[in-house]
Amino acid sequence: MATHFPQGARIGVLTTEPVGLLDYLAPQGGVALGQPVVAPLGPRRVLGVVWGKGEGGFDAAKLRPIARLVEAAPLSPAMLEFIQRAADYTLTPLPVMLRMALRAPDLDQPPAARRVIHRAGPPPARMTDARAAVLRVLDDHGGAGFAPSELAQLAGVGVSVVKGLVTAGTLVETMAPKDAPYPRLDHALPGKPLAPDQSAAAETLREGLRGGGYATTLLRGVTGSGKTEVYLEAVAECLRLGRQALVLLPEIALSAEFLDRVEARFGARPGEWHSGITRSERRRLWHMAGRGEVGLVVGARSALFLPFRDLGLIVVDEEHDGSYKQDETVHYSARDMAVLRASIEGAQVVLASATPSVESWVNAASGKYHRLDLRARYGEAELPDMRAIDLRREQMTPGQWISPTLAAAVTERLGRGEQSLLFLNRRGYAPVTTCRGCGHQIGCDDCDARMVEHRFQRRLVCHQCGASRPIPTACPACGAEGKLAAIGPGVERLAEEVAARFPDARAVVLSSDLYGSARALKDTIATIAAGGADIIIGTQIVAKGHNFPALTLVGVIDADLGLQGADLRAAERSFQLMRQVAGRAGRQAGDRPGLALLQTHQPEHAVIRAILSGDDEAFWDAEAESRRAAGMPPFSRLAGIILSHPEQAVVEGYAQELARRAAPLAEIGAELFGPAPAPIARVRARFRVRMLIRAPRQAPLQSAIARWLSAAPKAPANLRLAVDIDPQSF
Ligand code: ADP
Ligand code: ZN
Repeated sequence: MATHFPQGARIGVLTTEPVGLLDYLAPQGGVALGQPVVAPLGPRRVLGVVWGKGEGGFDAAKLRPIARLVEAAPLSPAMLEFIQRAADYTLTPLPVMLRMALRAPDLDQPPAARRVIHRAGPPPARMTDARAAVLRVLDDHGGAGFAPSELAQLAGVGVSVVKGLVTAGTLVETMAPKDAPYPRLDHALPGKPLAPDQSAAAETLREGLRGGGYATTLLRGVTGSGKTEVYLEAVAECLRLGRQALVLLPEIALSAEFLDRVEARFGARPGEWHSGITRSERRRLWHMAGRGEVGLVVGARSALFLPFRDLGLIVVDEEHDGSYKQDETVHYSARDMAVLRASIEGAQVVLASATPSVESWVNAASGKYHRLDLRARYGEAELPDMRAIDLRREQMTPGQWISPTLAAAVTERLGRGEQSLLFLNRRGYAPVTTCRGCGHQIGCDDCDARMVEHRFQRRLVCHQCGASRPIPTACPACGAEGKLAAIGPGVERLAEEVAARFPDARAVVLSSDLYGSARALKDTIATIAAGGADIIIGTQIVAKGHNFPALTLVGVIDADLGLQGADLRAAERSFQLMRQVAGRAGRQAGDRPGLALLQTHQPEHAVIRAILSGDDEAFWDAEAESRRAAGMPPFSRLAGIILSHPEQAVVEGYAQELARRAAPLAEIGAELFGPAPAPIARVRARFRVRMLIRAPRQAPLQSAIARWLSAAPKAPANLRLAVDIDPQSF
């Protein structure tokens, strides 16, 4: 295929507009395949990418030339193919997928329009709160680099405040300088001397990289077994070969520790890509990725859509983590898209986890993925000792959730100056607020969900739509005063119990909603790591790889939470979460392993037994077998269709209509279940109906769905339809 089109050639430009592909004429000097461009569309200017030769079928005399080239490197042919195949796989319209790849700010703005603010003269004669806020933000970030509007937004003021400071001479506005490339990481610096199984694993990964082709490897080992150390060796090899590497992490905003580690290993920091970076950083990283001027990027799932020039390695750390699945705008799994992208780029994928997903486990067992195991914790440390606390045999005090056995273990740790972690995967104070007079439970107006009391914020919050309101004093149903009661525990209520029972202990609550910013959360984590807390009370945020050296006891308050539920993944998720949390308990002083105690009413449950036995492989084998027996993924394929509309009758009617016309699905041997109300049937005042399609593994599921939906009658106004290939819950 041509990779350069001479002036006047007919080219196809994929725009980010719903119209998609349009024909234009190549401008003076010609244009390269993959070049981002600005093209005229009616009276407007739109962003697009040179996608290939024009389609023809449109009078050449009427074709317009593109307006101008965007000052950016062309997307590689591999990137173009990735965009196409990711769109095909997820059944996402191409323009929408292209937008995921063009995530740099201001691509459609001429470079001259980019201006940045710097600190210039002394403080203004008239200092206001708004002005002070602007100066504070600027000082917090080294005094420079923001566009005026960005600075105003970060400071929470109008842009006129920034302009005022420019007029006053305190700030100065200049053209944005050309982005500086990232400092080079030095791949030749020595890593830590590796243990034998680490060095064998590292060598296997290095060989794969030298081979230059695609492969996926599942790197398994308990937390602390040294997986990160091993994949950093693979990163070093990738850099040595002159290719780029991407490390995906869940909860990237919390990865300060990881960035420090990269710096210690390679002498410089990697590029960072996540929601917490500034617009100018976002722009710089996007462009540098495309020019091959950043060697290593550490990012959240959307970093997969960066236009790397030559990607040689993708690491998906904690590959089982639910946050890799995006369920808004485009439904995709970053793990699966990493494998797709690597197979196109001729890159290696490393999936690292202590508790892999059943999918990856099965792929490794069938030989589709390679598998590398790190057996022991680095430096022969062991897994924590794990035991169940049978709540049926404990003397529980009503309104308390810490059993006497667990309390005694905490007291022991306090005496030794060690940390305890109490895990409860429930944000807020109490999951239910009910009226003792009439039995009414307070629900959300717009969702089929209860409002959850958040006592620290003094509000009731809907965990579905985020709506919140002050906690009422009277029952909204019967009007009785003072009869509202909190039912069941959340972390805030658990914190109250801890304060009452261990009044001298320093307790800290770790819950995503309690921190205004990623930085505040980071600071708290650093405080805990430095020993500034005795008891940590946390939601699942604590399961994610933080290293607390003084932590020797983990208490799971409700190990039964999550075991029930119709979701076939419930067992897998519960297992992963409890395993990860239990793994936080390090070794005690001396040689004794840490201790994990699981409070449960059903110690004989298969998941609890699997966790206690430490025989993870038996659990995955059993879980895989039950999926096979039930004909569920990965032994079949699923797709979810979610329809929503403000009126129940409208959405149900249209879904029924679709179901009646499902012949294209039957043709490939797929079954259609539903339509049925979605598990939460009303969210944000829209009724939601779900259909589930199950197809044989090799069946052309996406094309059948595409044929089915394109032949469907026109949808009623305001109806939304989303397709979720490989849904996470089913
Ligand atoms: P994982 O990624 O499996 O959780 P890490 O790679 O983070 O494990 O290793 C756990 C701890 O052990 C880290 O503090 C790491 O620096 C240390 N470590 C791992 N391998 C080595 C090694 N070969 N030499 C020295 N320290 C190591
Ligand atoms: Zn709601």
